[in-house]
Amino acid sequence: MSLVPMKQILDEAERGGYGVGAFNVNNMEQIQGIVRAARETNSPVIIQASKGALRYTNLIYLKKLMEAAVEENPNLKIALHLDHGNDLEVIRTAIDLGFTSVMLDGSLEPDGKTPRSFDSNVDITRRAVEMAHPHGVTVEGELGTLGGIEEHVQASRVILTDPEEAAIFVERTGVDALAVAIGTSHGAYKFKDTPTLAINLVEKIHALVPDVRIVMHGSSSVPAELIDAINRYGGQMPNARGVPVEAIQEGIRHGVRKINVDTDTRLAATATIRRIFHDSPTVFDPRDYLGPVRDAITAVVKERMIAFGSAGHNDDYAPTTLEAMKQVYAARRHS
Ligand SMILES: [Zn+2]
Repeated sequence: MSLVPMKQILDEAERGGYGVGAFNVNNMEQIQGIVRAARETNSPVIIQASKGALRYTNLIYLKKLMEAAVEENPNLKIALHLDHGNDLEVIRTAIDLGFTSVMLDGSLEPDGKTPRSFDSNVDITRRAVEMAHPHGVTVEGELGTLGGIEEHVQASRVILTDPEEAAIFVERTGVDALAVAIGTSHGAYKFKDTPTLAINLVEKIHALVPDVRIVMHGSSSVPAELIDAINRYGGQMPNARGVPVEAIQEGIRHGVRKINVDTDTRLAATATIRRIFHDSPTVFDPRDYLGPVRDAITAVVKERMIAFGSAGHNDDYAPTTLEAMKQVYAARRHS
């Protein structure tokens, strides 16, 4: 599988001043929908799988589906990233499966709720870097906690990232990318009313650690038209609200390079299935609703690729390899 290291995609995004969406997957239609969007907008793309996704696909299906995506699109820059790895065991699993990037989320204790101490976060993240870099694999860490609920990620309180601490964290761990807490949250219910993000923190962190790529989690926009469709066709998602695309674009202007999007593709799938089941009660062939789900995912991902500015940038650079990245990291260790 010739996936590119995530570090290359993010370093190129830094050079070009744009953001790259990282989209979560669990099945074939999601993978196909996302890579089609990348192909049609000529955009580099990060595809990510959580620990839950690895379990859901029994590892091997995810690996083979990704191989198919790469084989079908040999010229696309695709990175495969582990989202929210919370122990060294899953980091090892992802590296063995051929992921080109891993996240070690050491912001919370193994219970997924209690904020972890700074020193303990540094320690486990550094060990993940020591495990991944000799394979050329990119590492994302997390400092601060997000609100909301994601699979197994549910902080009991929200702590925004402190820029000075971020600089020390990066220096001690050697991470390539850093997820920052600036007021976003996971899930479909992010805000009670107008969201306020601490974009000034992004600006400060970017200035203090210019070689590390800043990541925004919990950055689905929860489009009103998808929520309306879900509610119109029998769903119950009152008051769902996300991060406006304009707020993400402001983040990108100040240095955000990776934007995690999961909820929006879930909403697109759910709205589509609900509409089809409502309008066509006789439908029973899964292709008749999963095909349209795939189209709906392509549509929302294309919108994000255009809004984040990654569209059109796929051919800006030649792909590098994990092998080449091994040399880069080894030179850094010995300097
Ligand atoms: Zn996240």
